[in-house]
Amino acid sequence: MGQTASGGLVVALQKTMESQGGVWIGTKLDESISDHFLKEYDGGKFDRHALHLQPSEYNDYYLGYANSVLWPLFHGRTDLLDVAHGQLAAYASVNQKLAEATRHLITDDDTIWIHDYHFIPLASELRKLGVQNPIGFFLHTPFPTTSDVHALTHKRNLLDWLSAYDLVGLQTQRDVSAMIEVCRTVFGGQMLSDGRIRCQGRDIWPASFPIGIEAENFRRTAEAQKPLAPQIASGQRLLIGVDRLDYSKGLPHKFRGFQRYLEDRASSDSPLTLLQIASPTREDVEAYQEVRRELEQITGQVNGRFAELGYIPIQYIHRSVPRDYLAGLYRRADIALVTPLIDGMNLVAKEYIAAQDPADPGVLILSEAAGAAEQLKVGALMVNPFDPGSVSEAIQSAASMSREERIERHQSQWNEIARHDVHWWTGTFLNSLKRNAAQRIEHD
Ligand code: UDP
Repeated sequence: MGQTASGGLVVALQKTMESQGGVWIGTKLDESISDHFLKEYDGGKFDRHALHLQPSEYNDYYLGYANSVLWPLFHGRTDLLDVAHGQLAAYASVNQKLAEATRHLITDDDTIWIHDYHFIPLASELRKLGVQNPIGFFLHTPFPTTSDVHALTHKRNLLDWLSAYDLVGLQTQRDVSAMIEVCRTVFGGQMLSDGRIRCQGRDIWPASFPIGIEAENFRRTAEAQKPLAPQIASGQRLLIGVDRLDYSKGLPHKFRGFQRYLEDRASSDSPLTLLQIASPTREDVEAYQEVRRELEQITGQVNGRFAELGYIPIQYIHRSVPRDYLAGLYRRADIALVTPLIDGMNLVAKEYIAAQDPADPGVLILSEAAGAAEQLKVGALMVNPFDPGSVSEAIQSAASMSREERIERHQSQWNEIARHDVHWWTGTFLNSLKRNAAQRIEHD
């Protein structure tokens, strides 16, 4: 399941593993180990095993096919595709090695849950080795549109890989619709009455399971955080942004929207500060270095133009912050600004809601393109991140919103994230997976 990082996948699965138990298997860069056996690690409350990657595998498989082909493609950025010879072969080969190394750990009662775009072929490799267990897949990113899938050289692989699963979990209805469309137009598929898509004699079984957070737990963490007064001047009104420094997160767009707000605001209003945590990610990939340069440039421009003694408009922190500490920052912030250009879900939006004081909550400004928008659009102020005017207006509305309206909006959002929390996500996915697998085994 990739490298350890601050990201939604790791955060959600950690909770799932702690509550369900089981074995967590992933990959790890380690050139000192050249065999392809799994090595066991101390995983705290559950077992962890890793397949070790050699530097060439890490380059071609992880940085290459996974993060320079599939990631941009799944986020609608075919302009950033960096296709190189050998990447697809490395991707297929790492998945094959992982299947072989995992095979002996699997017992008849096991349910196998594979996560994200790094491991799409894993079920088909396990099936080749005779594994009949229920195998489900969950894609944490958006599912690509038909026009984006056309940019993939070996499109047919997707059908072979996905049809080996008993269930393909997607974040949103938008993703399910995209998958149906791809299957229909690219693979000539047809919908069956039970929700499966039949393509060229194979079945893909998609459904949406919006990933959640441990809402109640996170609320308590935020409440318990000591006031962050030493770091943030009292009385300073705060907008918060928390994102990996990824081009899909729309950080330059967020900063331009904030710049427009600074230009538009009435001079009598005390200006807000944007506190942006931008945690480092995939820094070896060129496209990530570019977005970082762009962001640093805009920060310099905005601060150079609007800073005053005692007021810095953008506090930009290019570093990862512990999640508990983030909980306190969310609670302290008057507004959260979440502006991805496209995002599978966006847990930060849900964490911000969970962290608020229900008697005096802040306001969530949310991009229409975040997966979280399907659940949170009623209470959030929705924006189009491509339009700085839309972001500026939303900041002004949020800053002047009455407490009654904030409470009302927050209540509806809290109800949604508390009902559909991470335990709901795990439970509904695993139940559907077992049901589908039972049906397959009965028909075989
Ligand atoms: N996160 C963190 N520290 C940071 C930045 C982010 O712990 O410095 C966590 C954040 O609290 C959230 C996750 O990383 O739980 C990000 O998940 P999200 O779904 O918003 O985005 P992703 O990174 O998975 O694309």
